[in-house]
Amino acid sequence: MQVSIACTEQNLRSRSSEDRLCGPRPGPGGGNGGPVGGGHGNPPGGGGSCPKARAALVPRPPAPTGALRESTGGSTGMKYRNLGKSGLRVSCLGLGTWVTFGSQISDETAEDVLTIAYEHGVNLFDTAEVYAAGKRSSYVITTKIFWGGQAETERGLSRKHIIEGLRGSLERLQLGYVDIVFANRSDPNSPMEEIVRAMTYVINQGLALYWGTSRWGAAEIMEAYSMARQFNLIPPVCEQVEHHLFQREKVEMQLPELYHKIGVGSVTWSPLACGLITSKYDGRVPDTCKAGIKGYQWLKDKVQSEDGKKQQAKVMDLLPIAHQLGCTVAQLAIAWCLRSEGVSSVLLGVSSAEQLMEHLGSLQVLSQLTPQMVMEIDGLLGNKSQSKK
Ligand code: NAP
Repeated sequence: MQVSIACTEQNLRSRSSEDRLCGPRPGPGGGNGGPVGGGHGNPPGGGGSCPKARAALVPRPPAPTGALRESTGGSTGMKYRNLGKSGLRVSCLGLGTWVTFGSQISDETAEDVLTIAYEHGVNLFDTAEVYAAGKRSSYVITTKIFWGGQAETERGLSRKHIIEGLRGSLERLQLGYVDIVFANRSDPNSPMEEIVRAMTYVINQGLALYWGTSRWGAAEIMEAYSMARQFNLIPPVCEQVEHHLFQREKVEMQLPELYHKIGVGSVTWSPLACGLITSKYDGRVPDTCKAGIKGYQWLKDKVQSEDGKKQQAKVMDLLPIAHQLGCTVAQLAIAWCLRSEGVSSVLLGVSSAEQLMEHLGSLQVLSQLTPQMVMEIDGLLGNKSQSKK
């Protein structure tokens, strides 16, 4: 489905947006030295062939403090954080377009969702080679490269596929560049040096401003970083990682170290485990849910599996805490993700404008979530990652 975002864009342009989009800019010395590598609205590849600008994209040695610098958008209350330790400021709630642009919802709903997200300060929109999409002007657009087509050369992270895949995505998105391109999975068939060089090339060509990894192991991210340092190439700025109440080990145990040591932050996905972390499944799969539609049999199987049922029972156990906070369990689960160390943005997945509005409310829940409540949640889940120390 091709969503007419051109129209959305026009709607959006007609509304004043500056602080909704960016939030206050860090002052001199703020952030990691302020926006680098183009910043918002700068032309892509401004520093393309300029070695100085290229060097500016390489994160500086990590700052001693671990806390994510957070600011609040004046009119929306949206929180903005740096993407890892890069200068790019992203809304802590991003919008995934896996569902939004999938076949599940109408163009009209997709457009509503985008408009509402944008109006509420969301500035990060996540797409991929395999999702359809439209075009954009001034906000942060990501894409992911890995699965391009059936042919052997149309997938993976060879230099050929990174460059051709990204060009193909840009064509479909009708964009001159994306802000962040993610290597959507590690590829043991492509040498790390080739991947890092190809990512550096697409940035230097102005096709992307930053690059990140997705579903990579910590050791692989470290290898990419070391490779970049060794050959004066551009390292990744963040890892896109699954993170929710039932999938927490990597974000809690592995990524904080990378964030502190090499400045790689996290953009997390599936905060509701594809809808499982809501109180809507009680052993049954309603037809109206994602798990009930064609192409999502894997989700239906998961919901109906023993493991899935245990997880749904745990979700029910969280209801009293959600009631105490006056929120839904989905809002509690998203707020729980937002509080994790090193998380720059949580990508929301929604099938309707109502769901999006509900999720945006998780920002208020975040401010009420006390360490005691987090401990209580950990106690109920019984799956807190244990530090080796
Ligand atoms: P999610 O939040 O775990 O699941 C979203 C789904 O949950 C919605 O489509 C909706 O499905 C259901 N839902 C949401 N809010 C609800 C509510 N309030 N009440 C009841 N049901 C609700 O997110 P996700 O879609 O799995 O992932 C989010 C984004 O992450 C994706 O769009 C994509 O951009 C990104 N992602 C990245 C990767 C990667 O490999 N890097 C992988 C997966 C996702 P129903 O139709 O059932 O209502």
